[in-house]
Amino acid sequence: PLPVHVVGGGLAGSEAAWQIVSRGVPVILHEMRPVKPTDAHATDGFAELVCSNSFRSDDPVSNAVGLLHEEMRRAGSLILRAADAHKVPAGGALAVDREGFSAAVTAALTASPLVTVLREEVPELPPADWGNTILATGPLTSPALAEAIRAFTGEESLSFFDAIAPIVHKDSIDMSRAWYQSRYDKGDGADYINCAMDREQYYAFIEALLAGEKTDFKEWEKNTPYFEGCLPIEVMAERGPDTLSFGPMKPVGLTDPHNNRRPFAVVQLRQDNALGTLYNMVGFQTKLKHGEQTRIFRSIPGLENASFARLGGLHRNTFINSPRLLDGNLRLKARPDLRFAGQVTGVEGYVESAAMGLIAGRFAAAQALGELPAPPPPTTALGALLNHVTGGADEKTFQPMNVNFGLFPPMETRTKKGDRKAAMSARALSDLAAWLGVVPAAA
Ligand code: FAD
Repeated sequence: PLPVHVVGGGLAGSEAAWQIVSRGVPVILHEMRPVKPTDAHATDGFAELVCSNSFRSDDPVSNAVGLLHEEMRRAGSLILRAADAHKVPAGGALAVDREGFSAAVTAALTASPLVTVLREEVPELPPADWGNTILATGPLTSPALAEAIRAFTGEESLSFFDAIAPIVHKDSIDMSRAWYQSRYDKGDGADYINCAMDREQYYAFIEALLAGEKTDFKEWEKNTPYFEGCLPIEVMAERGPDTLSFGPMKPVGLTDPHNNRRPFAVVQLRQDNALGTLYNMVGFQTKLKHGEQTRIFRSIPGLENASFARLGGLHRNTFINSPRLLDGNLRLKARPDLRFAGQVTGVEGYVESAAMGLIAGRFAAAQALGELPAPPPPTTALGALLNHVTGGADEKTFQPMNVNFGLFPPMETRTKKGDRKAAMSARALSDLAAWLGVVPAAA
């Protein structure tokens, strides 16, 4: 078979390359380090961890990222194999010795006779004659390539930083306090879930936002301009105590059916995925520390028991609008020879990025072998993540996502709430086994 070009030897590109050579297909791996550095990487190793050394929870029964670990192990992941081999004690988390981990990934790839490594920047969209190509250049994609992607896909389709509002599991919202209504009953009249605040609650909330501990920007992030349209809520609050009640928290066009009054202020939540299991807090992008977000946002009436699928954040990040641009096979609709993988597809985190590399690698290998790529079932963590970025997420509000059980289709059989994660996890591993055993169809 013809070689697959993989651009970027990070978490996603390394995993993609491994999956491809595991099927006997050659890979040409283009990595710009050390010829050209990024602002965060410090070595020339593949799969360098730029910050924490943790792959988060390793519990496959009650945690979606733990389940993703297990699925990746079963799918022959190099990233998980290297992580398991270089594990350090971290309670229930999978944390690694970063040097040993990166060295193991680098050694496995460079030892493969099927891998050719080119230490060079790819500054343009790869030419059509490269054929089957994966772009896995990550959150710090080189400026030249990012510009080329932006020029090809359009202004609106590539972001240089994220503005992440917290996402809540719908079933954890207290609907005896909240209610469905759109402002002035527009749309179908019930597109939003509203949480009302009275005057006292609102000003106490503003105080809490101002006092809450924030995460600092990294030195090289400081000149990233905020878009006026997505200022962090605490920055809006700093502009004056009433700014939010005239902004995202304005109460106009709404009546609280629990007391038939217009509230003093509201927090609105909007459906975030096609399944309707997740709702995002509209306009609530924030740099508050995660613990502070949980504490402060649970003071909102109706969110006292909120369970967060993702907390808010704001970072420099390069990602494309995947729901708009990619097909279900991670190919650019307008250039099907180009696949995307990793953080640039709008997933967030080491494990999720590597998972998207695993899927893209399998797709590209299947294509090189003249087979029809079979996507992982939507009931698996791999499939749930893939489905979210390629279609389940709303392209108008698309922001990077961590894996979580809210991305999985609900169980078909009635399951007690406390048993739901375990049931979803068992269903995932059973459906994964069927997928891994599938004999591919010829294209
Ligand atoms: P990367 O691992 O960054 O790999 C991309 C590779 O492409 C790099 O090696 C880069 O040198 C190369 N490259 C870029 N442009 C080109 C080009 N034009 N030509 C050739 N090569 C190119 N996630 C966590 O789970 N935990 C954390 O603690 C964490 N901290 C982070 C801290 C920072 C500062 C950043 C930016 C991100 C962090 N992330 C973290 C998010 C993310 O999971 C990681 O960045 C992860 O490495 C993404 O994997 P990736 O393969 O998509 O990109």
